[in-house]
Amino acid sequence: MSRNTLWVIKPRVQDRDTCLCVIHANVDLKLNALCSAKILPYNTHQKLLENLCCDKYRENCLSRDCQACKNRTPDYKEFDNSKHIQFQKWVTDKQEYTDPKTKKSKFVTEHLKKSYTVSPRQLIQELQSDLETKFFCHQRNIVHHKEFKRKPY
Ligand SMILES: [Zn+2]
Ligand SMILES: [Zn+2]
Repeated sequence: MSRNTLWVIKPRVQDRDTCLCVIHANVDLKLNALCSAKILPYNTHQKLLENLCCDKYRENCLSRDCQACKNRTPDYKEFDNSKHIQFQKWVTDKQEYTDPKTKKSKFVTEHLKKSYTVSPRQLIQELQSDLETKFFCHQRNIVHHKEFKRKPY
């Protein structure tokens, strides 16, 4: 590698199927923490989908109806459960405030990024529950509505 290549900015390869919602962000934050703790070899949901699905753009795989991949789980490495991990999570918080003009109280919903420290097992359980209850279903809906074009091979 020549020195010049250090200055080349990598093209963003994922821009087409990037969703910026809380479900995706929370899965990525958990993957990040598990990856830094060397429990998972990847830290993005794209990689997770590539590992768990035959084809991450196929609805049958995403709805976990595909016989070939529905039982796949992330390949968690061995870990020491006493070594706690810090991770971040977006949570919604209802804040009450008094409108200065009307003097009436109002509620606003805020998204806050909070830090948590948990055991690896707890973090894995949280990730698994995210995947099973929200993530796959949400991803399937995105694929269904946007009809991603496949990359030419
Ligand atoms: Zn999303
Ligand atoms: Zn499949």
